[in-house]
Amino acid sequence: MKTYLGIDIGGTAVKLGLVTEDGQVLKRAETSVSFDNYQTPILDTVRKAAAQMLAECRAEGYEPAGVGVSATGQIDSSQGVVAGTCGSLPGWPGAPIRAALEADLGLPVTVANDANCMILGEAWVGAAKGCTDVLGVTIGTGLGGGVITGGRLLEGARGLGGELGHMRIHAAHGEPCTCGAVGCWERHASTSALVRRAVKMDPALDSGRAIFAAAQQGNAAVQQLLDDWIGEIAEGLAGLVHLFNPQLILIGGGVSSQQELLIEPLARQVKAGVMPAFAQGLEIRPAALANDAGLVGAVRYFLDSKH
Ligand SMILES: [Zn+2]
Repeated sequence: MKTYLGIDIGGTAVKLGLVTEDGQVLKRAETSVSFDNYQTPILDTVRKAAAQMLAECRAEGYEPAGVGVSATGQIDSSQGVVAGTCGSLPGWPGAPIRAALEADLGLPVTVANDANCMILGEAWVGAAKGCTDVLGVTIGTGLGGGVITGGRLLEGARGLGGELGHMRIHAAHGEPCTCGAVGCWERHASTSALVRRAVKMDPALDSGRAIFAAAQQGNAAVQQLLDDWIGEIAEGLAGLVHLFNPQLILIGGGVSSQQELLIEPLARQVKAGVMPAFAQGLEIRPAALANDAGLVGAVRYFLDSKH
């Protein structure tokens, strides 16, 4: 069976996996990329980890046929470089990921944005398997997204497409965003946005976990906060549903395990917020692949692009 290396580069760690041609992960490794506060450039750490992983795979008798990379930031997939970031990741903008890894490993390499890889992975072997029209939204520190429409990943001209978090939903009176604009969806609908509001109410509510626990225990003020936040997520999704007419919306990130407190009320609000024909058959589900989505989706991207 053919195998490939999947590499998922985040802002704090790089995950590596040996992935089969049918999307199973045979072997995994993970290394911090922020261990010395980025004194060592992220790409240097990734190159070292990738070479080591390839050597280990070969020692076990596997010969990967290519490398799919999922990477944080705005990724120019046509060039395989980091075109930009939102917020500070020292040394990351301009990093020539594809050229560096192709030179080191002697294998063909593709690079795509992590949120786009997440949804490709889910559509291949996860919660969106078999679906042709899917919106994927990962809710966490930021809000990442990806769109599969007509069975294809929406990439745009350079591979930058699907940057859903910077769609402006409160352009007039919203919060300033790290991208320079005002009122971006991620400033209002990310887990960080929820936490920013909650700690003003009670400093102990400093994580999504703490906030959901307080709501579970019947704290009405926290429940109201949660309702408002879910309203922000739903507002963005309603706009996107009208654009793309998806059959499925996948919610990823740590908060996606909150079925009763997030997924169900969110589904009700989105369906109530769109024109009735768009709500028919529309499903909203948590993502399924968790940690593997990025690297599995990166391999799917590789297979779709080159082979
Ligand atoms: Zn923004």
